[in-house]
Amino acid sequence: MRVVKTIAEVRQIRWDDPALTWGLVPTMGALHEGHLTLVRQALMENDRVGVSIFVNPIQFNRRDDLEKYPRPIERDLDMLRTAGVHLVWTPDETEMYPASFQTYVAVENVTQVLEGASRPGHFKGVATVVSKLFNVFQPTRAYFGQKDAQQVAVIRQMVRDLAFNLEIIACPTLRESDGLAMSSRNVRLNPAERTAATVLYRALTAAKNEWEAGQREADHLRATMQQAIEAEPLAKIDYVSVADPISLQELNGPVEKALLSMAVFMGEVRLIDNVIIGVA
Ligand code: AMP
Repeated sequence: MRVVKTIAEVRQIRWDDPALTWGLVPTMGALHEGHLTLVRQALMENDRVGVSIFVNPIQFNRRDDLEKYPRPIERDLDMLRTAGVHLVWTPDETEMYPASFQTYVAVENVTQVLEGASRPGHFKGVATVVSKLFNVFQPTRAYFGQKDAQQVAVIRQMVRDLAFNLEIIACPTLRESDGLAMSSRNVRLNPAERTAATVLYRALTAAKNEWEAGQREADHLRATMQQAIEAEPLAKIDYVSVADPISLQELNGPVEKALLSMAVFMGEVRLIDNVIIGVA
């Protein structure tokens, strides 16, 4: 496994043999099994796999969240080596954002709601860094987790709009045995918060079960999720949503397919989760 820091090194390795297909898995490090499912799928579908590890400062709207973001780089590299990854790119901040940097990618409607509404500037940071990763790596395929459903929607929109020449693959959310979606932020939960954090998936599942039992009203599904979260004293709702899976606009009346999603504070830690209903 090669571990490199510069754009020039990535390009040189990527184009060493132009006949090979490359999968890219963009990450912010602090890797867990969820990241590894993306890596494994990429390894199955491509000749070579590259992983980027970069805690992208411009996508954080809270300074404490950026500062407290875990950075266990040696452990991450061991996990990727064991998994069989070929190339890891760990750029310094100055490689991504030199002092003269002044170009940003702004995806419009689909970034205005949900995470975009709660975290101003977040998706501008995501779209900008992912564009740069795509331009540097020029992967055949890029892998993202459905855990960040809006991120997938935003990147798909950006790839369509700007004609990036690659395929976006979305991978299912990997969960702990009690249902909590794996996340690099989970290590920041204290034991009581960690126990309480299972409420997100319970709330999503309660609404999904109702939908499967015939309940179609968007308001009812939102209320079910809200009540489940409110029953947990340590949880504070940022948003609960029943939205169109592509446009992410909030739905009213009967729904045949929807993205059920939520953001919930457990103490200082903000957790997100989602499930899709009505889409095979
Ligand atoms: P991050 O390092 O948090 O930016 O995540 C890197 C990639 O891994 C993103 O595409 C995430 O959606 C994905 N990811 C994070 N957690 C999970 C999970 N529990 N299951 C599947 N994919 C995940």
